[in-house]
Amino acid sequence: MPANELKPCPFCAAGETCIVPNQNWTGMRYAIHSYTLRHICADRTVITMTRNTEALLIAAWNRRPREDRIQRRMERIDSMLTESVEALKAAEAEIQLLKDK
Ligand SMILES: [Zn+2]
Repeated sequence: MPANELKPCPFCAAGETCIVPNQNWTGMRYAIHSYTLRHICADRTVITMTRNTEALLIAAWNRRPREDRIQRRMERIDSMLTESVEALKAAEAEIQLLKDK
């Protein structure tokens, strides 16, 4: 997933999400001082987050520690399963060699 792509809402996996810059007039020009994410869930609940930069805001919205932990654990289990299947195949091949003698 590209660094600036937003993950779906963890509560409704749908809804509408937008990011708007917050700016103020410095006397010379408008300057962006922060960004606010506004999400309207499928049930119309509104979630807002504000961070100093757009990158920090996207990272905060996309942060899913529980999902990331589950994903890492599934990858470990998958790897262990693959190793077990390979060990079983090797053992079966050895048994077959012994039977053939
Ligand atoms: Zn939502």
